[in-house]
Amino acid sequence: TAKRAGRNTHFFFNEGMREEAEQHLLVHSDILRGLNANEFELYYQPVLNVNTNKIEKCEALIRWNHPDKGRVMPDSFIPVAERTGSIVNIGNWVLQQACKDMRVFLEADIDIKISVNRSVSEFYSTKAYDTWKAIFKENGVDSHRFVFEITESLFMEQNSARMSVITSLRDIGVQFAIDDFGTGYSAINYLRNYPVDYLKIDKSFIQDLLIDEQDKTLVEVIIKMGRALGIVVIAEGVEELAQLEVLKQFECDYIQGFWLSKPQSLHHIIALCHEHTDGQYDAPIT
Ligand code: C2E
Ligand code: MG
Ligand code: MG
Ligand code: MG
Repeated sequence: TAKRAGRNTHFFFNEGMREEAEQHLLVHSDILRGLNANEFELYYQPVLNVNTNKIEKCEALIRWNHPDKGRVMPDSFIPVAERTGSIVNIGNWVLQQACKDMRVFLEADIDIKISVNRSVSEFYSTKAYDTWKAIFKENGVDSHRFVFEITESLFMEQNSARMSVITSLRDIGVQFAIDDFGTGYSAINYLRNYPVDYLKIDKSFIQDLLIDEQDKTLVEVIIKMGRALGIVVIAEGVEELAQLEVLKQFECDYIQGFWLSKPQSLHHIIALCHEHTDGQYDAPIT
């Protein structure tokens, strides 16, 4: 595109941008190297049904065990991967690993769904559906056990190729969650056109629940709206019992957050699930 822009290019392609582009390319190739070297890992954070006290789902969150940098968190490489395209490689690896981990859960007698984060740019290719379907098949896991977490921006521009990927996935039982709900455009009319299964209230609302009356009202309204539309609402970022109590009062059915558990390795999360032999979660006393 720089070439097509012709001689005016230098007006907007400055030194800072060149450095940024070079930096992105370095991260891009390091990601591809790291995938090959098996440096990535999925951590899991449980999602609790507050009515039954059962851990019904867990969210897969990627970590990069980097040989030089140590543990690298997703916020420092996912945005770059989204811009350079390596998010497609990451996304496929994540689904592949989540399928393997699902087999470990099931072999350990844990009945659970895994929620994986997907970036909008993973939906650009019409091949995405075939690739993901093949991953479920190769691993012999039931696609009904998976939830794809996406952000509202996926629905913002009408795009028939992208929509057909979503529809095909829904047809094989994959559920969809809107992540970080309330922070995006919140043009809620897309909820009429595209069925979603879950809304995850962004943690910034939960963090202010006890101190900000407006946020408290918004949380209550989102929960009511979800109920009225038949969409399950999950509150993320629950750190204290007092927040959980307000959420229970608003009849929020699912919670996730440090109060229950931080994201942990597969091994640890399986132990956590097993501590509660009947699947019941004994709430920590805080
Ligand atoms: P997210 O999907 O909204 O995930 C929730 C984030 O909040 C996670 O951060 C989690 O560790 C953190 N969190 C959970 N409970 C609490 C709490 O009680 N308090 C606070 N302060 N934070 C809490 P993490 O693991 O650093 O992930 C950050 C973001 O990176 C995720 O936000 C998601 O958008 C993205 N991400 C993670 N894994 C993947 C992946 O495999 N693929 C893609 N495309 N994005 C991913
Ligand atoms: Mg998420
Ligand atoms: Mg979120
Ligand atoms: Mg997010």
